[in-house]
Amino acid sequence: MGRKILFLGPPGAGKGTQATMLAKALGVPHISTGVMLRQAVADGTDLGKQAEAIMKAGDLVPDDLVVAMVAERLSADDAVCGYLLDGFPRNVAQAEALDAATGEGALEFALLLSADEDELVARLLNRARDEGRSDDNEETIRNRQAVYQRETEPLVSYYPEHGVEVVEVDGMGSIDEVFARIVRALAG
Ligand code: ADP
Repeated sequence: MGRKILFLGPPGAGKGTQATMLAKALGVPHISTGVMLRQAVADGTDLGKQAEAIMKAGDLVPDDLVVAMVAERLSADDAVCGYLLDGFPRNVAQAEALDAATGEGALEFALLLSADEDELVARLLNRARDEGRSDDNEETIRNRQAVYQRETEPLVSYYPEHGVEVVEVDGMGSIDEVFARIVRALAG
């Protein structure tokens, strides 16, 4: 059985940071499509070549490519006893594909990490300066926020309609403060 948890939330909300910490605490793999796609780009695989320009613009990589990548990852031995999904699904079609692959109701719940938009943009601009991620310039950041609102936010109502509770956690504050809130939300 194990824990199957999904992280939702806008770019910059801290999903990657918190999901990494939580996966470690729970002993389940952290499956981040953003990390996997950036690795594919760095490795120069066919997938990476197809994804690179799309990611740079802040648009979504085509569903069939991402769904195949995630399905393969979920079939690995270490995902049998649970996983933490971060960055996937990013739209309703991907959520339906995940339901089809895992069986509807497989997810324990979805954790929605929220933060206000000014804070999100400020955090992403800082990350651009510190890490030099090529999809972190201001124009791309604004586009990623728009793509989130248009494509991903509908999942906040999709999941309750499909039997998966969405628990909202405030993503403002220090990394440790937010993590403590997540742990409390999981316990409660
Ligand atoms: P962030 O959390 O900052 O939005 P991610 O690391 O999750 O960034 O994703 C970076 C980029 O990778 C996205 O802007 C998108 O181009 C691509 N990507 C990641 N996950 C998906 C997905 N599930 N479907 C389509 N594209 C994706």
